[in-house]
Amino acid sequence: MKSEILIEEEKIRKRVEELAAQLDKDYDGKSPVLVGVLKGSFIFLADLVRKMKTPHQVDFLTVASYDGGVKSTGVVRLVSDLSINIEGRHVLVVEDIVDTGLTTDYILKNLGTRNPASLEFVTLLDKRICRKADVPIKYAGFEIPDQFVIGYGLDYNQYYRNLPHVARL
Ligand code: 5GP
Repeated sequence: MKSEILIEEEKIRKRVEELAAQLDKDYDGKSPVLVGVLKGSFIFLADLVRKMKTPHQVDFLTVASYDGGVKSTGVVRLVSDLSINIEGRHVLVVEDIVDTGLTTDYILKNLGTRNPASLEFVTLLDKRICRKADVPIKYAGFEIPDQFVIGYGLDYNQYYRNLPHVARL
């Protein structure tokens, strides 16, 4: 499999630090719940929370829309749910990448029914050009073109998540 580096490790590290500093400002005194969307966000989330100083809780949910390929099926399923009650809580959903926005839209609607105090999204990568659903992404690491990418948590057939950089296939 041939791949080409799109975002270097060092560039990601710096951007994650900037995002953490911004979140520390915005969530000061709010004790947010950071919700990692599995599996792709696990590395971004791990790096992000270790740079944050604001006390917060971490939880996860798993959604599926890709089934291993390079094209979204467009049908989003909740595979596993949160363990924390988010009613009245400030919730920040942590995503690896927003592409069509259908996954984000699903999560927005699903978590929105649980009456959080606030519900925002942070994504490492934003393929804004591919949007089908108009979703409010408050924080984004990098805007990227319409290319399938791997590494830093993102997979192809469940492989390559361990790459320290983001690469295009
Ligand atoms: P969306 O619902 O916004 O189209 O897609 C969101 C999900 O699709 C992401 O959480 C991710 O799992 C997957 N995805 C979208 N684009 C890519 C990509 O370029 N590479 C990888 N590995 N997954 C992607």
